[in-house]
Amino acid sequence: MKQFTVRTGARTEMIDITHHVRSLLRESGIRKGVCYVFVPHTTAAVTINENADPAVPQDILMELGKIVPLTDRYRHTEGNSDAHIKASLLGASEVVCVEDGELVLGTWQSVFFCEFDGPRTRKVMVKFIQG
Ligand code: ZN
Repeated sequence: MKQFTVRTGARTEMIDITHHVRSLLRESGIRKGVCYVFVPHTTAAVTINENADPAVPQDILMELGKIVPLTDRYRHTEGNSDAHIKASLLGASEVVCVEDGELVLGTWQSVFFCEFDGPRTRKVMVKFIQG
């Protein structure tokens, strides 16, 4: 298992981490297999979406904010229930296949770290399975 840190700069933010995952893949020397990306946090997530137009992650965050408002009659007293719910909606992990030493992603796809209760320093764990 390998890991890297992400320093987020806002309460909600999507950060393209594909280059970090790629550089760990190069280090591993694995040519063929599966890559697991896991976020060990309860108020952050990982997702795969469009990297070309920065408006796409902005729209995702805007709509998540409508589905899950910052304040409601939440029971969790820490004040970040929206972040916990958004984290579960997007999920803590993604799987990307590896072929010929490359991540198998579509032209416009990137792996995004999703911050919902920042700014914080966060961890991303990556596991490569050869096969
Ligand atoms: Zn909490």
